[in-house]
Amino acid sequence: MEEETHWVYNGKNTSRWTYSYAWIYYWEENTGLTAHRCSACGDVTGKLVGAHVYKAGILGRRTSRLDRNYYIVPLCYSCNNFNNDYKFKVTSIFVPVPSNN
Ligand SMILES: [Zn+2]
Repeated sequence: MEEETHWVYNGKNTSRWTYSYAWIYYWEENTGLTAHRCSACGDVTGKLVGAHVYKAGILGRRTSRLDRNYYIVPLCYSCNNFNNDYKFKVTSIFVPVPSNN
């Protein structure tokens, strides 16, 4: 898997938020890397969570998402807390979430 840059939206809901800590390990296991910076703002000082995001479409609307998959990327608390309709840019290895998660 290689690093990519995409516009994304947060895809969190209650359950995903609850398990954010575990998802960071999911990302690390699948990439073989240690998460050390926020994939959005680049912060290296705060704690990171494994955030669920989905890739935004060209028009930046939910209805134009590129695919239906959620991906895990490391984000700091602030970036993981963006409203679900706020589009932001992420550079990371995008680890696909198994369906139904
Ligand atoms: Zn951040």
